[in-house]
Amino acid sequence: MTEQNYPPGIAYLDGRYVPMSEAKISVLDWGFLRSDATYDVVHTWRGRFFRLDRHLERFERSVAKLRMTLPFGRDELVEVLRGCVSRAGLEDAYVEMICTRGVSPTFSRDPRDAVNRFIAFAVPFGWILRPEARERGLNVAVSRVQRIPPQSVDPTVKNYHWLDLVAGLFEAYERGAENVILTDGEGNVAEGPGFNVFAVAQGRVTTPDRGVLEGITRLTAIELCAELGRPVDIAALPVEALHAADEVFVTSTAGGIMPLTRLDDRPVGDGRPGPVTRTLIGLYWAKHEDPAWTTAVRV
Ligand SMILES: *Cc1c(COP(=O)(O)O)cnc(C)c1O
Repeated sequence: MTEQNYPPGIAYLDGRYVPMSEAKISVLDWGFLRSDATYDVVHTWRGRFFRLDRHLERFERSVAKLRMTLPFGRDELVEVLRGCVSRAGLEDAYVEMICTRGVSPTFSRDPRDAVNRFIAFAVPFGWILRPEARERGLNVAVSRVQRIPPQSVDPTVKNYHWLDLVAGLFEAYERGAENVILTDGEGNVAEGPGFNVFAVAQGRVTTPDRGVLEGITRLTAIELCAELGRPVDIAALPVEALHAADEVFVTSTAGGIMPLTRLDDRPVGDGRPGPVTRTLIGLYWAKHEDPAWTTAVRV
């Protein structure tokens, strides 16, 4: 296999920086064999991390909840992320940090025997909806697949339990949509593959309160709404309410705040991005120049 099979970028593992083509782990790692891992993704935009502290706090909390340990503290973690982005020579980067359970030296079935592994990498920024497609907006189907219930896997720990989300994606493609939203199995919206969901109806903004990853972009949208004097209801969001909404938007580090204009083959509102969504997108990108929410990659 040649290097062209990999995106450009730089990874850090086993104490070294390597090109993505050399960033490999053992097939015996519990992260691979059992999806026993947690991760986080922060992005850089024009050479600055966006809300880095929030991502690091969530990552450290997730690692602790899974009873794993990182090989180093916050300062070294930041150094490694900076190291990946600057060595990759990227201004706009998708920066992932991962902690896996690791390998049990004896292949024992006891997770306590495994030696936890830390990996980070920086690759070019990726979009769920590219900016040039923003006017068109996302075309999404609500899946019949139920999101893994929060009683089974804690959704606030960012994780690789994606078989439900991937099954939902294939269902959506078959139905002519480009992306998918899963429900909680009781008629309420949960989330999509790597994004949270918001509905705007009669001026009120709602996002699901449970069964979801508490996205940093979700938090950002909630805070931006507060700045606009528009408090967000963090509450159950029935699928019917999503169908009846004036506006729907989704939030993710992979693209920010993005309009959803077609749902289950019907237009949302008038089928174009709505005023609340447009305002939030403008504010979101403007905040990328605010020193309070950003950190320079190079110091
Ligand atoms: C990462 C992720 C999100 C979005 O979170 P951000 O912090 O905004 O990127 C939403 N849902 C799931 C399942 C995710 O993995």
